[in-house]
Amino acid sequence: MIDKASCSGVWIFAEQRNGALQGVTFELLAKGRELADKRGAKLAAVLFGQGLKDQCADLFAHGADVVYYADAPALATFNSDAYTTQLAALVQQYKPEILLGGSTIAVRSFFPRVAVRVDTGLASDCVGLDVDAAGVLQAVRPAYAGNVLATIVCPEHRPQMASVRAAAFKKGAPTSGRTGELVEVPAAVGEVRIQILETVRDASNQVSLADADVIVAGGRGIGGPAQFGFIQDLAAEFKGAVGASRAAVDAGWISAFHQVGQTGKTVKPKLYIACGISGAIQHLAGMGASDFIIAINKDAAAPIFDIADIGIVGDLFAIVPALTQALKSR
Ligand SMILES: Cc1cc2nc3c(=O)[nH]c(=O)nc-3n(C[C@H](O)[C@H](O)[C@H](O)COP(=O)(O)OP(=O)(O)OC[C@H]3O[C@@H](n4cnc5c(N)ncnc54)[C@H](O)[C@@H]3O)c2cc1C
Repeated sequence: MIDKASCSGVWIFAEQRNGALQGVTFELLAKGRELADKRGAKLAAVLFGQGLKDQCADLFAHGADVVYYADAPALATFNSDAYTTQLAALVQQYKPEILLGGSTIAVRSFFPRVAVRVDTGLASDCVGLDVDAAGVLQAVRPAYAGNVLATIVCPEHRPQMASVRAAAFKKGAPTSGRTGELVEVPAAVGEVRIQILETVRDASNQVSLADADVIVAGGRGIGGPAQFGFIQDLAAEFKGAVGASRAAVDAGWISAFHQVGQTGKTVKPKLYIACGISGAIQHLAGMGASDFIIAINKDAAAPIFDIADIGIVGDLFAIVPALTQALKSR
């Protein structure tokens, strides 16, 4: 167990895919900066990859004081074995007080392994973070199928680890010219038993909810799986993503990958178009922070209109295709 008294600093794992830093990295930097300032400590970003030294400037510009960068062929693409050994070694050596990552597939896969190696706990899939005067991280996450928000603490073991949902925090603006300390760490990937033979792009070529500027979402009002075609057509006009309420997912009309809400994904697009969604509190929990919301619902009293910037009362089967057509003919 790492000695608690010897730990300091807030670390974020800067995830890259194909050499591009993932959006959640910048959200973590913004939140990490806030936590580090509260602790009077440094904010560090940890970047693994190959030939990515130039990316460190972006991490400094977004608030990192230090970047630990490990460059090796084995770290170029995510590999759970290599990333676990490398990150656990860094944690043992530099002893951060707090270590954060995005709730991505990679982090979900290797953060628990790091936590076991360094003998600490991990609060996963958090939607809120704070730190108290004693330096105890308050990690807030939905629990009991999303019925309560639980605050998880790890008072004795260090580092205090948490993974955070995409869009739970706002990305900060970069400060041009801001710089920091770059620590190039030697590769220490240990025994790597996993070989990446091939990386295949998702054949559906769909835009992911986390990356989309525009999300068009369908609910029970859609009426069936085939009708999601209307939603897909409108989303395609915006080069956007398709979202869904839990009612639509539970009905088997669309996969859970698309679910927005308390037990689905938290999203914050520039534009969210809710079609045939009533606006239950659990749905609003996942999309209420969107920059601009358009709601289409035939019930003028639907609660979704309370948070919509533009509300259209009417039949979505007339309105959605008309909108798609209007966009096509522009
Ligand atoms: C613990 C817990 C967690 C949950 N997590 C989530 C979650 O993550 N995400 C989520 O979405 N829900 C979640 N729910 C479920 C949530 O409470 C609602 O049941 C769900 O969001 C309702 O989905 P909906 O709006 O599609 O369906 P409904 O509430 O049935 O609304 C359908 C709407 O479609 C409108 N409509 C019907 N036909 C048309 C038409 N032709 N044109 C226009 N409008 C039409 C109706 O007026 C109605 O407002 C959760 C519930 C619980 C208890």
